[in-house]
Amino acid sequence: MQEIIVVGGGAGGLELVSKLSRTLGKAGEARITLVDLSRTHVWKPLLHEVAAGVIDKNSDGVDYGIHAVRLGYQFQLGTMNHIDHLQKTIHLDAILDDDNEVLLKERTLKYDYLVLAVGSVSNDFGTPGIAQHSYFLDSLLQAERFHKSLLNQLLKLNQQADNSSQLKIAIVGGGATGTELAAELHHVANLAKSYGMPDMSSARLSISILEAGPSILPALPQRIAHSARSALAKLGVEVLENTRVSSAEKGVFITTEQKRIEADLLVWAAGVKAPDFIQKMGIFETNRAQQVLVNEFLQSTLSPDIYVIGDCCGFKQADGSWVPPRAQSAHQMASTAANNLINSFKNKPLKGYHYVDYGSLVHLSKYSTVGSLMGSLMNSSMFIEGRLARLVYVSLYNMHQFSVHGWFKGFLVLLSRKVSNIVGSKLKLH
Ligand SMILES: Cc1cc2nc3c(=O)[nH]c(=O)nc-3n(C[C@H](O)[C@H](O)[C@H](O)COP(=O)(O)OP(=O)(O)OC[C@H]3O[C@@H](n4cnc5c(N)ncnc54)[C@H](O)[C@@H]3O)c2cc1C
Repeated sequence: MQEIIVVGGGAGGLELVSKLSRTLGKAGEARITLVDLSRTHVWKPLLHEVAAGVIDKNSDGVDYGIHAVRLGYQFQLGTMNHIDHLQKTIHLDAILDDDNEVLLKERTLKYDYLVLAVGSVSNDFGTPGIAQHSYFLDSLLQAERFHKSLLNQLLKLNQQADNSSQLKIAIVGGGATGTELAAELHHVANLAKSYGMPDMSSARLSISILEAGPSILPALPQRIAHSARSALAKLGVEVLENTRVSSAEKGVFITTEQKRIEADLLVWAAGVKAPDFIQKMGIFETNRAQQVLVNEFLQSTLSPDIYVIGDCCGFKQADGSWVPPRAQSAHQMASTAANNLINSFKNKPLKGYHYVDYGSLVHLSKYSTVGSLMGSLMNSSMFIEGRLARLVYVSLYNMHQFSVHGWFKGFLVLLSRKVSNIVGSKLKLH
């Protein structure tokens, strides 16, 4: 039986594994294995909500081990650090327990087809001090780490007799992650009042967004940026555009103009690149964002047996631009790669990938959702906001749940999420 290994069970990888398990896996034509360095999947666009503490990995995450048993694929917990494309093997690091004892030894797995779906990490562009002093939202672990610090800071502030003292948070990057996080933090400071911190409110939070370019949300139409800017202004979030950070020290971002922006929590959310190990392996052709270059079928230029999808995939479009690192790109690539793998097994021709931009949405917590939907006519886009925008935003996540769990289980998962939203705690306190 042929072996298909998918490395990375994120927005793209988990959807791909689910589809392959229901088709090639179920038909006994291939053994499907998922490798991920984490035990739990949380859809990455929700990470800022994990960081703020409004969602919980236990109710909103997918346990890979359980999902694998249900869909009939193998799950290997581990970090891939090496690919031998000639021997067609991958190598996973050993896993250590809390006492630094080896829990799982290093492993070498053999594949017939490999799919790289390892996502992206924050790009600090080598800016001095950023890696040491900032929080990032690249993974569940990092989001949880930020959440812990946030709670500690809120508790500390709540204890202080002086009601005028504030918790300062500075976020570098005015993209979707930075703006959505700012709004969510505002919401959480108000929630904290009902969760044992009576002296807490958003008035005690001072949030700044530092954006190097002339406008926040640079990848989106100006009307969306304008709308988001006004919504953030209403929340008292300070938006500093044309502000480039050139270094960081403990508790301070320093701009190119030598302005010092002090904060209790520093967050870096300015751009992404494919993980460094891809570049270090030295076997793939990559672009400036370290993404692996692929052909029209999403096969790496190194080998047709290695597909690449999602944020780590460098797919150049006809107009010379790269497909953007978004959940919708990962979703579409997962679908193309799954169909091409199935077609390979059936000796049918492969299909080319074509990115369709359905628009973008920015969800500013409970306050506002703004975005654009792409029309099919002349690539026109329609501005949407309010309930409609919120509905479309939520439906993106729902589609992911349906892809991963199937329609019936997906519906139950969404229902249970709704119930836990009503009866459960609105703020995670640990
Ligand atoms: C806070 C935030 C908000 C966002 N909001 C939006 C949004 O509103 N709309 C939108 O379209 N996009 C959004 N994005 C971007 C979107 O989340 C990504 O484009 C999408 O998740 C990419 O999917 P992926 O499958 O490529 O990678 P990911 O979903 O990141 O999954 C990668 C997986 O690979 C695993 N992995 C990594 N390295 C290894 C290794 N060496 N070995 C084994 N496993 C490994 C990781 O554990 C992870 O499970 C947001 C991102 C963030 C951080």
